[in-house]
Amino acid sequence: MAQHFLLSAASRTLSLRSIYKAGEAAAYETFCKMRWPETDGEAVCPRCGHDETYSITTRRKFKCKGCAHQFSVTSGTIFASRKMDFVDLLAAICIIVNASKGVSMVQLSRDLDCQCKTAFVLAHKLREAMALEVQTGEVLNGHVEVDGAYFGGHVRPENRKEDRKDRRLKENQTGKRRVVVVLRERDGRTLPFVAKQEAEGVELAKENVSRTATLSADEASHWDLLHAGWSVDRVNHSQMYSDHGKHTNMAESYFSRLRRMVVGQHHHVSPQYLYQYANHAAWLEDNRRTDNGTLAHIMVSNAMDAPVSRNWKGYWQRAA
Ligand SMILES: [Zn+2]
Repeated sequence: MAQHFLLSAASRTLSLRSIYKAGEAAAYETFCKMRWPETDGEAVCPRCGHDETYSITTRRKFKCKGCAHQFSVTSGTIFASRKMDFVDLLAAICIIVNASKGVSMVQLSRDLDCQCKTAFVLAHKLREAMALEVQTGEVLNGHVEVDGAYFGGHVRPENRKEDRKDRRLKENQTGKRRVVVVLRERDGRTLPFVAKQEAEGVELAKENVSRTATLSADEASHWDLLHAGWSVDRVNHSQMYSDHGKHTNMAESYFSRLRRMVVGQHHHVSPQYLYQYANHAAWLEDNRRTDNGTLAHIMVSNAMDAPVSRNWKGYWQRAA
């Protein structure tokens, strides 16, 4: 039997040992090469595009010979105004791409010996970088599975039976429950959204799936509306999970990963951040057969392309 990809040596091309052994200078160089791939790491002015600069080596800054603008390798990217060493940043990326169900911020902060808050913001910035690859704005094609799964808003039952409330009633719910609707190509991308009702998935399909695609959905009645726009395979999960190739198993695999991420790592997820975790899990699904060195490479490269995060820059300073 062929060896599973994740057990093969080919899946392991990067390690924390190699990152720390190479050291800070090498990590810095990696970031420069990812930021300016077309000049092989030579600084290019982000303001005027001039590629000749004075290097202020002690402060790791550059000054443009054209317009005198001062900048660093992370200026204008999600890592702008970072305080962490580049070697730790690279290590954080390595830890995050290695964690196939995500990693909690407490764990990351222990591994990096930084504050929980720092780990939290860093992880969320990296999720933004991942989201760029997931939410491309391109429509899905081929065979697309659609399904939804509910997350969050758990109400803990009271200790005594007589104190317990009927949690099916709306007045006894938290209002924090959300559904993740996923659209997943059988041989391609995974595209998640957060909604209040699974039925909103119909509109999401209209916006994000090509009309030449074939859809697969389960027996839930709101999916009946999909038949007006597409050829749709239906499978009744109360009868069977797969009916001669009619199934939504790819969507279920995605939810399996997201569920484990939320339950096993984050334990709790607020509706505000669910979208980020959903994108993180989609990125991991789509890259499940990519070796970890390439994944870290993609992540750094995305991060260097991602603009300064509006959501996360100065997050704690604002919150305080
Ligand atoms: Zn310039």
